[in-house]
Amino acid sequence: MDKSTLKQVKKELTDVLGKENVNDDPVELFAYGFESSFHFSPPALVVRPRSREDVINIVKIAARFKVPLTPRGAGTSFGAQSLSLHDGILVDFRQMSKIKAITIGDQQVTCEPGVYYRELNKRLEEVGFRFPPEPGSSDYITVGGMVGNNASGMHAVKYGATKNWVIDLEVVLANGEVLHTGSKSLKSSSGYCLNELFVGSEGTLGLITEITLRVAPAPKFKETYMAIFPGIEAVGECAVAILKSGITPSAMEFCDDLALGMMKEAMKVQLPPAAYEPGKSALFIEVDGPTKEGVAAEGQIIEELLKKMAIDVKVARNEKESDDLWHARHAITSILSKARGGKYMMSQIMDIGIPTSTIPRFLKELKDLITKPEFFFATAIYGHIGDGNIHFGSAVNTDVVPEVDKGIKVRDKIAEMVLKLNGTLSAEHGTGWARSIKLADELGYKLEVMKQIKQVLDPDNIMNPGPFFEVPVDEKGRPSEFLKLKPFMPGGA
Ligand SMILES: Cc1cc2nc3c(=O)[nH]c(=O)nc-3n(C[C@H](O)[C@H](O)[C@H](O)COP(=O)(O)OP(=O)(O)OC[C@H]3O[C@@H](n4cnc5c(N)ncnc54)[C@H](O)[C@@H]3O)c2cc1C
Repeated sequence: MDKSTLKQVKKELTDVLGKENVNDDPVELFAYGFESSFHFSPPALVVRPRSREDVINIVKIAARFKVPLTPRGAGTSFGAQSLSLHDGILVDFRQMSKIKAITIGDQQVTCEPGVYYRELNKRLEEVGFRFPPEPGSSDYITVGGMVGNNASGMHAVKYGATKNWVIDLEVVLANGEVLHTGSKSLKSSSGYCLNELFVGSEGTLGLITEITLRVAPAPKFKETYMAIFPGIEAVGECAVAILKSGITPSAMEFCDDLALGMMKEAMKVQLPPAAYEPGKSALFIEVDGPTKEGVAAEGQIIEELLKKMAIDVKVARNEKESDDLWHARHAITSILSKARGGKYMMSQIMDIGIPTSTIPRFLKELKDLITKPEFFFATAIYGHIGDGNIHFGSAVNTDVVPEVDKGIKVRDKIAEMVLKLNGTLSAEHGTGWARSIKLADELGYKLEVMKQIKQVLDPDNIMNPGPFFEVPVDEKGRPSEFLKLKPFMPGGA
């Protein structure tokens, strides 16, 4: 944005939002230049709406000056989708955090997008209900960000992703019109399903100002198990056996030897004895339900299978032991950067999804690939094995060119393996700008249709330009998600 446009836009925004809700302080812009990825790109302005009317005003001003808008919740994304990539306006939604209505008779909650997921679930649990997706980052994310990314997590194997719970969104479109994508009915077959179009759209189609979700009864009982296996393929085989047993666990997670090793070092948790032997991999399982007897019966089937297939099994004896095991599993993403002797490295987390029956073979091939010397990084494999969502985090030093080149080669190989299985390159974290590189390979003609939808709803491309349709390339023109975008210095911002 040139200086005179910025001055005029700032003046008009300040007139409608008040001085305290429009910010161009360099320190603040610098801070808003980061998210959970290693990319960095500060906005030209930050605004903090308090209401739908504020959002309409922001959109109308941005549209008149053709300035890009990037909506943002807590900014914990991995693909640069919560960063303003083009000197635009970052719209921080955290002041819009009201829980407007909890109507258990309708099995619904209506809230503003800036409410934190934990806060929403705390309120729902007071009346015996919850919104179940539970991403690994649940303690610090907003519901708007979950809708933006179609986030999910540990419970998706039984309860699905965010999209399965959204029944209506209020969205301010690029032309300033307000659209409701659904109704207050739990089901609808009237016309196209606009809920699903907007869930996961990463702010590229409009700014969400209100969200209505279906809610589920909070389970009263649960059992937790951790099992140790000689290798990652054996973990995959056991996971598939459990899925075939007719029991749907409420969580089924796994990690390889490298992730288990880091977990042992970083977390003070008592794991099954075999976990302390070298080279082992682990499976974490939870079953839940409304009655103790039902959960115990399901747990027994799982336990028998684990005892047959694993080399060691731990059954959590109480809530604390269960919480400790899940805490250890949750911590993997955050402790990954220690994977190379504690040196500060960037973790490029990948987030692929494959059909569940192919998991054992895929995991073996993946492990073989990343342990080959020409591809080797400290790469941990872990994730939501119950729905085929596998993460691998490579500790890539983005300042070292040969490492970046190797990272690109590994990514290309893995993408090829996933697409051969008819899988997806982003199962829950979203695409953003960083992962748009291989999107055309995955989506084919679907990407063209998506472009046309974007063009109709946002002809001037002011709604979060970046995700899906822009491919990051380095100075040599090579596609690379390892770019930092801009220098890490405030002076360079
Ligand atoms: C340690 C760690 C673990 C994680 N584990 C998981 C996991 O298990 N599963 C998972 O899915 N993700 C995970 N994530 C990624 C991320 O935390 C989630 O996807 C989360 O839902 C993002 O929420 P946020 O509030 O940070 O949103 P942001 O990152 O701020 O935004 C996410 C997207 O939503 C858009 N958006 C935000 N608000 C609005 C709005 N009002 N209107 C329109 N669009 C909007 C943004 O533009 C952006 O494209 C993890 C992240 C970390 C750091």
